[in-house]
Amino acid sequence: MSDHFLVVIPADPEALLPESAVNVRNTLAAIGGSREARVKDYGKLQFIDCGEMFEGIACPACEAAITTEQWHAWMDSDWHGEDGFHLHRHTTPCCAVDVSLNTLNYLPHQGFARWFISARNAGRGPLTTDEVRDLERVAGISLRAIAQMY
Ligand SMILES: [Zn+2]
Repeated sequence: MSDHFLVVIPADPEALLPESAVNVRNTLAAIGGSREARVKDYGKLQFIDCGEMFEGIACPACEAAITTEQWHAWMDSDWHGEDGFHLHRHTTPCCAVDVSLNTLNYLPHQGFARWFISARNAGRGPLTTDEVRDLERVAGISLRAIAQMY
């Protein structure tokens, strides 16, 4: 059986963990019907993935596919070891637009953040727009939702 997690990260990848984190965790647990929710603060930028659901990556300007080779090359150049990731500017090969690894279109959503809040659930599907809005109200900041499956 797969493990499913509802995850939220800040829309601003550099955002520090807000004081509202525990309230967000409790709200997320209630939404997901979860007894297992947590706050994880890395203190440095990390890639928060979607697990086995991953389908692909696209250019945010023209929607052309970004190859896995290209993406790995950018991930390598942005990785600063113990310092975590630094989001450098890259130029897409398709239409030469400036992007960062965090502004690429990930299907489904993934992103970069210093922290995440997650709740294990029985696979009820991704957070809805309304649920994300409720969580943002509790958090006091904009969030990005990620549905993880492992
Ligand atoms: Zn493009």
